[in-house]
Amino acid sequence: MTDAGKPVSIALENCAKTFVDGTRALEPLDLAIHAGETVVFLGPSGCGKTTTLRIIAGLEEPDAGGKVLFDGVDVTHLPIEQRNVGMVFQSYALFPNMTVAGNVGYGLRIRKVPDAQVKARVSEMLAMMQITRLADRRIDQLSGGQRQRVALARAIAVRPRALLLDEPLTALDAKLRDTLRLDIDSLLRSLGITAIYVTHDQAEAMALGDRIVVMEHGRVAQIGKPREIYQRPATRFVADFIGTMNRLTGTAREGIFRCKAGIVPWAEAPATATEILFRPEDIRVAESGEAASLQGKVASAFFLGDRTRLFVDVGEERPLVIESTARRDFQHGEAVGLAIDPRGLLVL
Ligand code: ATP
Repeated sequence: MTDAGKPVSIALENCAKTFVDGTRALEPLDLAIHAGETVVFLGPSGCGKTTTLRIIAGLEEPDAGGKVLFDGVDVTHLPIEQRNVGMVFQSYALFPNMTVAGNVGYGLRIRKVPDAQVKARVSEMLAMMQITRLADRRIDQLSGGQRQRVALARAIAVRPRALLLDEPLTALDAKLRDTLRLDIDSLLRSLGITAIYVTHDQAEAMALGDRIVVMEHGRVAQIGKPREIYQRPATRFVADFIGTMNRLTGTAREGIFRCKAGIVPWAEAPATATEILFRPEDIRVAESGEAASLQGKVASAFFLGDRTRLFVDVGEERPLVIESTARRDFQHGEAVGLAIDPRGLLVL
């Protein structure tokens, strides 16, 4: 059994997974997770996130030739009980007839930790998750958010070397998700534990991940820090999966990109570019009187309070998405001049 407490580094080498029915869930995957970091697996349903997490947990074995290493030690064939990892699932997986304190102390009791120590550790965990007052409640008397706090407290009570979380917030409503996301963030930082977090929610991934592994059809599409993934997506799939991406089609020559709606000055435009991409925050509506080299017509405008989300028709297949903080309303069909910040331009 691996040591308790100290965060572990985790490596996957050549880990593929084919299920007995022939489903190929994972193509051969190599991945190195540093001790103490939070890595998020992000991708659409069925891309292999959960399968990868289960291989790391010891709930699933990779196909022959695959290896899982904890601090360099081969644990490929060790069952979950011997890996010293904590797990939290979307479905809580708590014991419904036990109290909150009973659930949180469960892992300690089966490890034969003396009663007094179990008690102390349970109170510490309940305090950390801010559920001390629920200690004697039964699980079936709790809300979803409270249950997930119990599940987190239970997972960390045994001082695991890694915490594995599979869509822990998906079943909760939006407000609760925001609060619990904040609490999970501070928890992971204060524990300094190695954490792997599976989600299909890009906002959650960006908020929590030191690094994000974007997955597509059983393969890694890109690994990087949230800002790298957002600002420098490696593929079209990543560009579209994370955030909103605008596109203009045309041709580049001598530092100018020409498209149907006008021109975009871009000194570094590659001569081969036939499509440029940029985020909504890298384009703005020109002020009245300001010269603008791109022209469009407002197709829709949604006032969101702090900003207005504009869809602007520029003669492309899809309208451009623009976030405007101007203190005014926009009319349907209104002609607008547009200015793009060249620092946000990409070619893929
Ligand atoms: P989701 O977000 O929907 O949970 P995911 O990215 O976590 O998706 P996985 O659960 O890893 O995806 O599944 C990857 C692929 O493997 C899917 O096509 C899935 O149907 C398949 N799969 C998962 N478990 C099994 C199994 N036990 N037997 C056969 N196929 C499976």
